[in-house]
Amino acid sequence: MSLTNLLDLLPAEIESLMESLGAPRYRARQIVDWIYRKGVTDLDRMANLPRELRLALAERACVDVPVVERRTPSQDGSQKFVFRLGDGARVQSVLMPDGDRLTLCVSTQVGCGFGCAFCLTGAMGLERNLTTGEITGQVLSAARSMTTSERITHIVYMGMGEPLANYQPTVRSLRLLTDPLAFGLSSRRITVSTVGLVSGIEKLAREDLRVNLAVSLHATSNRTRSRLMPVNNGFPIEALLAACRRFPLPFRQRMTFEYVLLDGVNDSPEDARELARLLRGIRAKINLIPFNDWHGAGFSRPSLPRILAFQQTLLERGVTATVRWSKGEDIGAACGQLSEAVVA
Ligand code: SAH
Ligand code: SF4
Repeated sequence: MSLTNLLDLLPAEIESLMESLGAPRYRARQIVDWIYRKGVTDLDRMANLPRELRLALAERACVDVPVVERRTPSQDGSQKFVFRLGDGARVQSVLMPDGDRLTLCVSTQVGCGFGCAFCLTGAMGLERNLTTGEITGQVLSAARSMTTSERITHIVYMGMGEPLANYQPTVRSLRLLTDPLAFGLSSRRITVSTVGLVSGIEKLAREDLRVNLAVSLHATSNRTRSRLMPVNNGFPIEALLAACRRFPLPFRQRMTFEYVLLDGVNDSPEDARELARLLRGIRAKINLIPFNDWHGAGFSRPSLPRILAFQQTLLERGVTATVRWSKGEDIGAACGQLSEAVVA
């Protein structure tokens, strides 16, 4: 029988596991505390558990944390982690310091099946979904490799893969990140980015999670969006924005729209005006992401004046728009540059 990875279980499920082993439920709290508070993943080192329980547990479960295979610092202070998973697959996370924030960008799939034309992860295709524990394990593993004074304050689901296409493990990982017994992060400090999977957005709207949502829009006409993002054939702009309008935003929170700027493709003044018009009535802010190049991409980044003009047009129309200069470009860790060969 294969062992259950305790990182795949919510605290309540570890309680049930304890019951099934004939142990009191409060033992689950102790285990969760060892893993998420103390960073101890070796069952033998969980000193306040009776020896018999540790032995019985070891026959049923383990704590399988992604192994840091490489850690590459960038000149801008960010770091790329390459994790090796149990089956040899690799995923990446990027740690980005910004003032007193320390944000970890996590992956939800090995590769991605959505094939957005500008994205290197998309060019890999989908290898497989990550499990809950492989998603939260990136946070745990990165946190364990940091000094005691450093602490991850924010999580963004913007690494490899489409979170809402791996729905259950993504939602369960969000529950663990926000569970006071586990990571205990505020849901306001977590952002899930989606390619615009309307069915997934609607499902997420019905969860009691209250995390931030970022939507990859990237174009103002269906013609251009379908060319850039095949998902638009199933979920065109009108359907996507209608789902965004229905999404229950927490008090004073705004939805983020990501817009990658591609020279001569979606960066005209008319595009900027149309973008402002499309988002009317949505509590939105726009993240403009100048395209990050990769070999063979076939797109280029607009000139700086053109980027700033696009932003200015939005600002003049009362739309909050920031330019996100990606971190880690020199180490292949910027938005859309994540890719890894699959097996060693
Ligand atoms: N699959 C999700 C989240 C991962 S991608 C999504 O698509 O939203 C995170 C962001 O990086 C998305 O907005 C994506 O469109 C953007 N991105 C992808 N490739 C890029 C590139 N080469 N340059 C800039 N941004 C890119
Ligand atoms: Fe997948 Fe997002 Fe890349 Fe599109 S942009 S291919 S959805 S990771």
